[in-house]
Amino acid sequence: MKCKKCEYINVNHANYCYKCGNEFTKKEQASSQEKSIWHKLVKLKDWYDKLTLSKITGSKTFQALSIIITILIGGYFIYKNGYQMKLLANDNYTYAYNTKDKEYYVYPKEKETPLNIYAPNEVKEIYIKYYENDTLVNEQSINDLNNILVEVNSSNINSYYKLSYEKEENDINTIKVYVLGSVTNE
Ligand SMILES: [Zn+2]
Repeated sequence: MKCKKCEYINVNHANYCYKCGNEFTKKEQASSQEKSIWHKLVKLKDWYDKLTLSKITGSKTFQALSIIITILIGGYFIYKNGYQMKLLANDNYTYAYNTKDKEYYVYPKEKETPLNIYAPNEVKEIYIKYYENDTLVNEQSINDLNNILVEVNSSNINSYYKLSYEKEENDINTIKVYVLGSVTNE
């Protein structure tokens, strides 16, 4: 969700702008939700409901089954496509994942660390943005997904990388990575 006031890109479903505190309107929240996969799944369920006879039968079991089937179809679709961007384990670092905020905390073993990134097969380019205190400092795109290097700039929790596989960031194509910890040698 882009803040109208300061243009900061917030996560979907945000109530307030993370940067300037500007409150999002219900309308803004709704339009950002329309882009989310869950919204699409609900749409898919609506479509499925029309297709089935659940409205005619009105059977609760039937409705419950149609929901379950929709979730299974949606789940299979996500599983098969796997378009949720992820950080994977690697010998070069240890990491922790904050599920709630979708943030990775990476503790590298060297000053410059290659990240093991999962992105969908068809992704050919990764956009890397480096922030300090929520201010964009550096931006680049990388074509070689196996060669994504990030640097330990400081142990500052206010510095982070945002990696996305499309210019437009959203919940599934973006991860936020804090590269933390002091590097002992080199
Ligand atoms: Zn703002």
